[in-house]
Amino acid sequence: MKEIRTKELFEYKLDLLYYGISIDRECYNSLKKGNKNQINNEDYITTRGLMIVLNSSVYVNANLNEDSPYKVYLINEIYVLKYGEITICTVNIIQPPDFALQAAKLSNGDLVINYVNVHGDRIRIQPIDGCANKCKFCDLNRKEYMLHSIDDLDEAFQYALNNVGFRHILISGGSPLNRSEDYEYLNNVYEFFGKKYGKYFSIDIMFVPRGLNIFSNNDRGYLEFLRKLKEWNISGLSINLELYNDFYRQKYIPQKDSVGRDNYFKFIKMAVDIFGVGNVRSCIIIGIENISDSLRAVEELCKVGCLPVLSPYIPNDEETFLPNPDFMKEVLIKSSLIAKKYNLELGPLCDSCKHNTIHFR
Ligand code: SF4
Repeated sequence: MKEIRTKELFEYKLDLLYYGISIDRECYNSLKKGNKNQINNEDYITTRGLMIVLNSSVYVNANLNEDSPYKVYLINEIYVLKYGEITICTVNIIQPPDFALQAAKLSNGDLVINYVNVHGDRIRIQPIDGCANKCKFCDLNRKEYMLHSIDDLDEAFQYALNNVGFRHILISGGSPLNRSEDYEYLNNVYEFFGKKYGKYFSIDIMFVPRGLNIFSNNDRGYLEFLRKLKEWNISGLSINLELYNDFYRQKYIPQKDSVGRDNYFKFIKMAVDIFGVGNVRSCIIIGIENISDSLRAVEELCKVGCLPVLSPYIPNDEETFLPNPDFMKEVLIKSSLIAKKYNLELGPLCDSCKHNTIHFR
């Protein structure tokens, strides 16, 4: 089978993030099916596609799209990506775990995927269903706000541990309401998982800058909270700036904007001082603001030792659009040059976790 590539593999990745993939009948027939005959798990806006690996090296979250010019075929028991008649490369397909496809339940009757999800090498633990924030590009906040019990979270985690392979943990899910009990609950979750599993897995958490409690959203409280996380065996942090431009911050991420961009950078710098370079990263949504704004965000994050993560904007409405591959390529190349200047690289560092990010791999 002759492979013909007219561009680099990462450029095909950008195309696939934009166009998605279609699959032929043999390919569909060969894949595991869920309880509704589905082959993927539409759990969240940035992970709802099918994870494919181009040439055993470049990971992509490719949405299923019958109109995509890119199609995966099963030929002689090998998956092959084609563009029209042109064969690009072989691919591997990483489907969601059985518990997600089959809607497995916990002893409380609730779906396991409401508590944990596995994508490639990473398990995501979701302590809060729904979210107190109203970021415009997110659909998690459309769900009813609810705190899960730690026992149920641990049951779901153990279920996944016994049934699926993963290498690291991300605790994310929704942001808490500004209530003492909600902050305390999340602190308890971080402490519980950090102390119980932090010796065996690296644990990252994703959150908005905050103090240890609702009364300590200040420098002292920031430090206190970060030191506690370290003490609880948390190994990495994802503190997502999302956008740089004030107009778009107000429009798309009003609650995060109210924290103040300066406070984000202050908090991120403290986090890098405590957790070390390489262990703190921050997502920037690409495709809402101008490229120059995104590059300023990249530069400011690099200055404080934080790894920028470029995340393509995925529209939630009919009026806005995904950034096209050329736009993504320009941001990627310019951002990686900025990161290099600071002896950093674009995050995340795990190849599999790059699947839904704008990256070379
Ligand atoms: S804080 Fe996170 S989970 Fe909540 S709405 Fe914003 S992006 Fe979604």
